[in-house]
Amino acid sequence: MGQTSPAPMMVEVERAEGSFFYTPEGKRYFDLVAGVSVSNVGHGNKEVVEAVQKQAADYMHVMVYGEMVERPQVEYARRIAELLPGKLDCVYFVNSGAEAVEVALKLAKRHTGRTELISMRRAYHGSTHGAMSMMGTPEGEEWKAEFRPLLPDVKSINFNSFEDLEQISERTAGVLCEVVQGEAGVRLPNPEWLKALRKKCTDVGAMLIFDEIQTGMGRTGAMFASAKYGIEPDIVCLAKAFGGGMPLGGVASNKQILDDFTHNPCLGHITTFGGHPVCCAAGLAALNYMINNNIVEQVERKGAMFEELVSKHNKVLEIRRSGLLLAVELGKSEYLYRLMEIFKEIGIMSDWFLYCDTAFRISPPLTISEAEIEECCTLIHEALDRL
Ligand code: PLP
Repeated sequence: MGQTSPAPMMVEVERAEGSFFYTPEGKRYFDLVAGVSVSNVGHGNKEVVEAVQKQAADYMHVMVYGEMVERPQVEYARRIAELLPGKLDCVYFVNSGAEAVEVALKLAKRHTGRTELISMRRAYHGSTHGAMSMMGTPEGEEWKAEFRPLLPDVKSINFNSFEDLEQISERTAGVLCEVVQGEAGVRLPNPEWLKALRKKCTDVGAMLIFDEIQTGMGRTGAMFASAKYGIEPDIVCLAKAFGGGMPLGGVASNKQILDDFTHNPCLGHITTFGGHPVCCAAGLAALNYMINNNIVEQVERKGAMFEELVSKHNKVLEIRRSGLLLAVELGKSEYLYRLMEIFKEIGIMSDWFLYCDTAFRISPPLTISEAEIEECCTLIHEALDRL
């Protein structure tokens, strides 16, 4: 099996349930990564598993996405459009986060007839050529340099910089932005800056594209982080928890805008497996589970509990948090590497961030219970004591 990590964690998984996964030897791990913000409704969620089993038995792949009427796609698209604000009334399904970003960038160029694309420094949007082009420089250069040439006419500006908004102009097709920067180590937006970003894009006719791939589906304490800040983008990219544990991505926009892909040229994006019915059935079941069990409403309280308990330890310099997405700052990468080893030994799965190797990640399933949070924080303290 191919690998791209030079130092994989190499923990074998036998089964996973709720907030935990287990090795063949029966060792239990607290999952503080949740497949990188994927397993929001908990591992082995009964309703999601049943939906997958039923859909797999009814039908799996029939025809390249968009040609047939497949109920799981139609129902899921309708439910998502109902939850997204105002004009975002249509969802185009793809396979992954990076593909959602590719589609959003193409749509911005196609719709505006412009070529310039802008992203933020320390942004991460995926690993395909287009998405990788949007990794902000100079930090992203470490990851991009060997793969150049990438997309032309791309530049990066500073997240939260009012001054840098001046660089968005009538040449700009789209501005791509995470609402909360994840791989930068959980960096929160200044709400006033988000408003100014929205205004600037509107003024110059550039499309504002929010990457809600990590922040969507309840992770930050609202179904979508854009709603938390009251900002309506022109395009939203979704993936990760969007598939309820199955691979699924989506691009939401206004139907008239998305319809640009149907002409000049037609088939503006084609994807064989995008919107796979089993994945859509899983995503829909996960969404219904979250709504029926008020999962999103509990996120802020649970996140605050982690923050309060973990921050009591004197090795913790700072916690940056949005809902149940936390970066625990230790200030030294040596601490972090050692801590990951200790975590592995005592049964905690965590990780650092692409652009921040001095903080560890807490992004468990949103279904984690308060008792589990307490138990987990006791273990985290024990691990921090050993540094
Ligand atoms: N955008 C953000 C904010 C992400 O965190 C990620 C993945 O970590 C992606 C895009 C890429 O998604 P995928 O790995 O499904 O291509």
